[in-house]
Amino acid sequence: MVVEPDADHVLWLDGEFVPWRAATMHVTAHHYGYGVFEGVRSYEHEGAVHVFRLQDHTARLFRSAKCLNIPIPPQYDPRRLEEVQLELLRRNHLGDAYLRPFVFYGGTAGLSRNVRGLPVHVAVIALAWRTSEPARPVALRTSSYTRGHANGVLWKAKANANYMNGMLALQEAQAAGADEALLLDARGFVTETSGSNLFVVRNGVLFTPPLELALEGITRDTVFSLARSFGWTVLEKHLTRDDVYVADEVFVTGTAVEIAAVGQIDGREPMNGAPGPMTRKLRAAYSALVRGRGEQNREWLTRV
Ligand code: PMP
Repeated sequence: MVVEPDADHVLWLDGEFVPWRAATMHVTAHHYGYGVFEGVRSYEHEGAVHVFRLQDHTARLFRSAKCLNIPIPPQYDPRRLEEVQLELLRRNHLGDAYLRPFVFYGGTAGLSRNVRGLPVHVAVIALAWRTSEPARPVALRTSSYTRGHANGVLWKAKANANYMNGMLALQEAQAAGADEALLLDARGFVTETSGSNLFVVRNGVLFTPPLELALEGITRDTVFSLARSFGWTVLEKHLTRDDVYVADEVFVTGTAVEIAAVGQIDGREPMNGAPGPMTRKLRAAYSALVRGRGEQNREWLTRV
């Protein structure tokens, strides 16, 4: 989880590095949630700090903006925003950290639903990250909220407003004593959780839902790559909730959660609540990869 910043902390807003507390917005800044963002991790290992898949996260930020038709000012091209993210880590003396770039509308015309002519703001924050150890298997609960139609909001975009669906589901799941919500679509197929993609293992094969109504997770993609490097088969398949109930192993993936075993789903316990062997192998490989231990996929690491 992120650590609250101290008084010297800086962030980046519209081209300037500014003190954390000085980064204020007028109250009329657009409030409908028309914006996009990213979540990126850096890791410190043996004195070296690396950002994991920085270019892929930045590319997704620009794809998200394109999807929503938000014109990112041309002076903030991907290379510039990547450099800003690295510089924020340096200026704030961060090692294990979480970065969040944002693109959103501001401006006094912000009470309208019409965003034409509103200024587009670009900001990046970086906060220290503390991992809670030991990692506890996640308890999931199938949500009463439905993950919406592909032609409603656009799920390829990591868009602020898209999160309302998942946040309602998360609140409901937590009120029922679970950690996370499992969202089904209107047909009853599994999509993802409120903040991660989902995989199940059955007879040694990995399955994950296709990306119609789920975010194109970068950790999901990393799992594809790791699994294939182990010679495992990984398939995209429509999954129902009972596919999850009868799976040998279930795990979720995301930049923040990394690869986390699911120990409970609606009161059923895959692997009796403990992480399964394939989940454990993936977790260990991921942990080595993101910290720059080992030789594989070094192109995914950017040295700070
Ligand atoms: N789905 C949702 C809704 C998410 O918020 C996230 C976290 N960004 C993911 C999936 C996983 O994406 P990634 O692996 O790129 O962090």
